[in-house]
Amino acid sequence: MINKVEILGVNVDSLTMQEAIDRIEKFYDDGKAHLIATANAEMLMRATHDEELKKILNSADLVVPDGAGTVWAAHHLGYEMPERVAGYDLAQELMKRSPIKKRRIYFFGSAPGVADKAKLKAEELYPGIKIVGTRNGFFSESDEEKIISEIKAAKPDLLLVALGVPKQEKFLATHLEKLNVPVSIGVGGTFDVMAGVMKRAPKWMQRAKLEWLFRALLQPKRAGRLIALPKFVLKVHSSKQKS
Ligand code: UDP
Repeated sequence: MINKVEILGVNVDSLTMQEAIDRIEKFYDDGKAHLIATANAEMLMRATHDEELKKILNSADLVVPDGAGTVWAAHHLGYEMPERVAGYDLAQELMKRSPIKKRRIYFFGSAPGVADKAKLKAEELYPGIKIVGTRNGFFSESDEEKIISEIKAAKPDLLLVALGVPKQEKFLATHLEKLNVPVSIGVGGTFDVMAGVMKRAPKWMQRAKLEWLFRALLQPKRAGRLIALPKFVLKVHSSKQKS
């Protein structure tokens, strides 16, 4: 059963990886353009003071619980949430399954050259995969029309967008209808990891729910963003007291 769980005003889907994939499989075929977001603690915190992001998340077709913080919050608030569905893992699962149904995939975002390297990695990992285009994520507003036409011309079934939060969600929400891609997902650092520019935490750290610590150690300039985590814990806790 799939439920929405409200965390700090954002409705997050409580579901397993398999259930997320099953839903996305249906999205591919229903003729509409779908937006999928992967909500970690940092994104949920940001949505508390970014109304536009909050609205986008609450009208998204699917918001998966990305990160130990999101699962913790759901449990703390008394809801069931079977597991974490990390954006990186979800993107890999969708790529892995794409050759069977001949799905076309577009990589948009990250620094110049990174999406191309990620494409090579995907072709090595998932034989038969069709990456029909790549575009780096550094552009000005005046380039947007051209980017949209390029993506449309490539006719992808799946659009992975790595512009960071909330830029990727806002770009997608603004252009979703025009792009008319069946499934679009904001995937943050996914291409960086695939291209080997950034490392993912070792499995034991992921299991110990310490992926955030690994990221902070590896990218000290991001460490300041860690303050969002204790703030998130306190905010979730006080939202529970109030309810
Ligand atoms: N990025 C981009 N355009 C921008 C800002 C960021 O393509 O204007 C890329 C960046 O190179 C990285 C990805 O977005 O590959 C995710 O960035 P970050 O790790 O800061 O995002 P978050 O943790 O917020 O998802």
